[in-house]
Amino acid sequence: MMCFNHHKKNSVGICKHCGRGLCEACVSPLQESVACKDRCENHVRRLEQFVNKAVLSRYNTTFVGSMLVGLLMAVLGFFVSSSEYPSSPYDMILWIFAGLFFLNALRYLGQRNGPK
Ligand SMILES: [Zn+2]
Ligand SMILES: [Zn+2]
Repeated sequence: MMCFNHHKKNSVGICKHCGRGLCEACVSPLQESVACKDRCENHVRRLEQFVNKAVLSRYNTTFVGSMLVGLLMAVLGFFVSSSEYPSSPYDMILWIFAGLFFLNALRYLGQRNGPK
């Protein structure tokens, strides 16, 4: 495929918005996507921001939620273990739940930072 603006140059990418072939001079330097310079940049950037926001907010909600529940369980476990029955089975169950929720939160954090 050739560049839409420079018919003698090979395209290095295709615009995400209009699908035109673009050479190095015509490609807008956007993160992870290709857009026509000064033409489709805003469209593609908005699309990208929307996608990023949707993905990040989904992970953040899950992550924060898991952390909150984990903390709550840990606090409950602390209070139960400092009561007059330090080694009750209920105490153990609370700690196991706290651990599970923390692991869950860490897993989501790992997914966010890991390779795509
Ligand atoms: Zn375009
Ligand atoms: Zn070009």
